[in-house]
Amino acid sequence: MSTTEPVLTIRALNVDYGTGDEAVRALRDVDLTLHRGEVLGLAGESGSGKSTLAYAVTRLLQPPGVITGGDVHYHRRDGSALDLLALSPAGLRAFRWQELSIVFQGAMNSLNPVHTVRSQLTDVLRAHRPEMKRAERTARAQELLQLVGISADRLHAYPHQLSGGMRQRVMIAMALALDPEIVVMDEPTTALDVVMQRQILRRLVALREELGFSVVFITHDISLLVEFSDRIAIMYGGRIVEEAAAQEIYRDPRHPYSEGLLRSFPALHGPRRELTGIAGSPPHLAAMPAGCAFHPRCGRALDACATRVPELAPPDGAEGRTVACWLHRPAPVPAARP
Ligand code: ADP
Ligand code: MG
Repeated sequence: MSTTEPVLTIRALNVDYGTGDEAVRALRDVDLTLHRGEVLGLAGESGSGKSTLAYAVTRLLQPPGVITGGDVHYHRRDGSALDLLALSPAGLRAFRWQELSIVFQGAMNSLNPVHTVRSQLTDVLRAHRPEMKRAERTARAQELLQLVGISADRLHAYPHQLSGGMRQRVMIAMALALDPEIVVMDEPTTALDVVMQRQILRRLVALREELGFSVVFITHDISLLVEFSDRIAIMYGGRIVEEAAAQEIYRDPRHPYSEGLLRSFPALHGPRRELTGIAGSPPHLAAMPAGCAFHPRCGRALDACATRVPELAPPDGAEGRTVACWLHRPAPVPAARP
């Protein structure tokens, strides 16, 4: 179902927290394309900038976060494009939910405890589809619940009467209420057990086939992404360090950090491998290492890695994937001596 037609393009996106001397750079030159119908996985350790990227792209970034540069465009089916960073508040209100919806980290706890599932689902419809009649809204709410595998009679339940997995699915139903083109999910299933996470993701991927939306799925658990996404982008220290088809990342990761991440989670299929993880801890924004931010933790770092940031580009001889690593670049020319 995934195509090569872009639905969201992010170019050279930069985000800081704070301004002036206080500023720390949270996103650096992020380039990323989401294709129509695709499930794009975004992985990286905590603090790598995944949520910042989701908030910046959806224009939900709160101060002290500031977008300091870059472009984000949404591409409609008719070929026209919308500059998301230039949208007015009214434009944004029309865009969110209808074209793009987001399920936040910990969203299942954000259902209102004193309202039924029905009233929370129909609120979204009432706000954006004022022409719908009450009975139509209720019918749509029932349909949405069924889409995410919950029986329609739970419409009258209160959040506390539902399991965590069901509450999460209600949030997904709400995100799908207005048939958006893009659904962004920021660690939507972290609080759930692994079996439940898989069930929810399987359902989401099936719905994507049926309804044709695109998904950005954010998680620190790369093994889930290998199973459910078409492409995977890996973040480290506010940059994308590798991007490729999920199976390529799994079989043949090129960035030492991607390799480390894959070794941090149990393989789903195939031979058992030792979980070795990655030594050391992620960098702090205020003290980002020079050169490749991963070099202090990298077992294969070269001299260039400590001083020069490798660009994100196809590795030698490969197409359709990119990596930001000196191991995959022609050897850098040494600086001329005076
Ligand atoms: P992830 O979602 O990958 O865990 P985040 O995008 O939440 O990462 O955070 C990226 C970096 O930005 C982290 O170093 C975090 O400390 C910093 N950060 C996030 N929110 C704020 C904020 N409101 N103020 C200052 N720094 C922040
Ligand atoms: Mg996050």
